[in-house]
Amino acid sequence: MPFEVTILGSSSATPTTNRHPSAQYLNLRDYCMLVDCGEGTQIQMLRYKLKYNRLNHIFISHLHADHYLGLSALLYTMNFHHRENDLFIAGPPGLKEIIDVQFQHSQTRLRFKIHFFETSSTKSEIIWENDELTVQSIPIRHRIHTCAFVFREKELERKINSEQCVFYKIPFACYDMLKAGEDFLTPEGKVIKNEVLTLDPLPSRSYAYFSDTIFDLSFTEYIQGVDLLYHESTFLHELAERAVETFHTTALQAGKMARAAGVKKLIIGHFSARYSNLNLLLDEARSVFEQTELALEGRSFFVEYTDVIFEQLYV
Ligand SMILES: [Zn+2]
Ligand SMILES: [Zn+2]
Repeated sequence: MPFEVTILGSSSATPTTNRHPSAQYLNLRDYCMLVDCGEGTQIQMLRYKLKYNRLNHIFISHLHADHYLGLSALLYTMNFHHRENDLFIAGPPGLKEIIDVQFQHSQTRLRFKIHFFETSSTKSEIIWENDELTVQSIPIRHRIHTCAFVFREKELERKINSEQCVFYKIPFACYDMLKAGEDFLTPEGKVIKNEVLTLDPLPSRSYAYFSDTIFDLSFTEYIQGVDLLYHESTFLHELAERAVETFHTTALQAGKMARAAGVKKLIIGHFSARYSNLNLLLDEARSVFEQTELALEGRSFFVEYTDVIFEQLYV
């Protein structure tokens, strides 16, 4: 099952000639989601052949313009193309009002229903889940109400050990019970332990999105051991004071977050428009955390059960 993150934009504050504001397209076990939706997000999806009609969930970190200005444009297009499926949008208080007022004044009546969820600025919580996935919000430290998001697979069911099940003549009808972790009771009243009949499940995969925030190692408690971490790296560390003033993070600090959290791979992004050579930021983050990559547009990161790999999508 896929567990993929595709970068649509990674520019902070304003677009540049070759970078769009923040947006990412996730395909997690065939559930497609957006995280942030900066200006031009729908054009980026067209460019990389990502279908917006497959999107059923959108998560907006905060209401600075570089993180949500593409949202109403995307909703207009979905409506234009006769979308009918409900859409779930999570974001800070005020987002619903901003969207509503635009549709109100253009006298647009959406054909589909939007379920808005207001994220909390004070507590971390599960904001969406189904049988396979959870999404957790974490209030982080920025100039306005901002949340990070952690996407996790739920613990997968145990796998049947066919050899052992045949040996013990376990009826096929009992397999679901075994996958759920129960022991097997023979007609003679003998208990066969579940671990004899099943194998450990694959580990659950996870992805954390941190943008925008000041450097704060206390957040690592929420993301210990995640497979993939996206962390904003607006500045080089020579501008560490500027990062504090503007509640942003440096590349060096992002590397420190990844190292302290023990993640498998770090993606840095949300680059200031002042940087044309992003390798300076990459080198700085790698000086403390080697497994770092740049959030380049069109780059897809695939979280496998053993590793995280990436490739550039065709443009
Ligand atoms: Zn931003
Ligand atoms: Zn911001």
